[in-house]
Amino acid sequence: MENKKLEGKIALVTGASRGLGREIAISLAKEGATVILNYKSSAAQAQGIVSQIISFGEKAYAVQADVSNEAEVLALFSQINKLAGNVDILVNNAGINPVKPLLELTLADFRQSLDVNLTSAFLATQAAIPSMIEKNFGRIINISSVAAQLGGVIGPHYAAAKAGMIGLTHSYAAMLAKYGGITSNAIAPALIETDMIKGNTNIKPGIIPIGRFGQPDEVSDVVILLATNGYITGQTINVNGGWYMS
Ligand code: NAP
Repeated sequence: MENKKLEGKIALVTGASRGLGREIAISLAKEGATVILNYKSSAAQAQGIVSQIISFGEKAYAVQADVSNEAEVLALFSQINKLAGNVDILVNNAGINPVKPLLELTLADFRQSLDVNLTSAFLATQAAIPSMIEKNFGRIINISSVAAQLGGVIGPHYAAAKAGMIGLTHSYAAMLAKYGGITSNAIAPALIETDMIKGNTNIKPGIIPIGRFGQPDEVSDVVILLATNGYITGQTINVNGGWYMS
């Protein structure tokens, strides 16, 4: 019988109706995890991925919640509890990248980017860790960005939020290491071919040293590595075609 590395684990992927989240959810399910696909508006798309996962014999559920809203995150976790149990693997992936000319960026734009790209990860992680501590098992995986390291192509509102995710990653890794079984890591992708970059005609693959956009499975491969490894913690794994080298 095929050996699935995440059999019995429950994974929550925020923003899983499209793009990277979709691919990450499918990859986790292929390794045997029960996957909760969170989405904000794309109900039909999320449900379509659930059907796809069920068709290959694994369990998945789609749950709507705006993860920038504390009450909705708490409701999301209580719903997950009823459907499947406690979250073992949390992938903080939901994000937005509102593009605007630099001089037109407002405080409202900045706050919205922090709320959706960063506060969401804090809220979901705070909701997930009590049961992770109880079980002494947990994987927190934050989808940051090369923008955290180089500034990127979107703007300071996005770069600051994504840099904040790396701070969250370090702090949770350090504070949870004493339990022995909980890791916290970030992934910093560069330009991955999803709706997020397809809608921005200023973004060209020539920016990337490797000369092409990345593919969602090149990020989900790393999610599986981090979900299955218990000794990598506090790290940022770069998936960026050589754009930023650490
Ligand atoms: P995408 O195709 O635009 O998908 C974004 C996902 O986030 C959708 O599922 C969307 O749900 C969800 N979402 C947005 N706001 C939400 C909210 N408030 N609550 C819950 N879900 C919400 O984006 P992507 O390219 O896959 O990006 C995924 C993550 O990777 C983001 O954090 C992004 O910053 C990061 N990233 C992407 C790239 C890239 O080049 N693509 C590079 C570096 C980092 P709905 O469909 O329901 O709106």
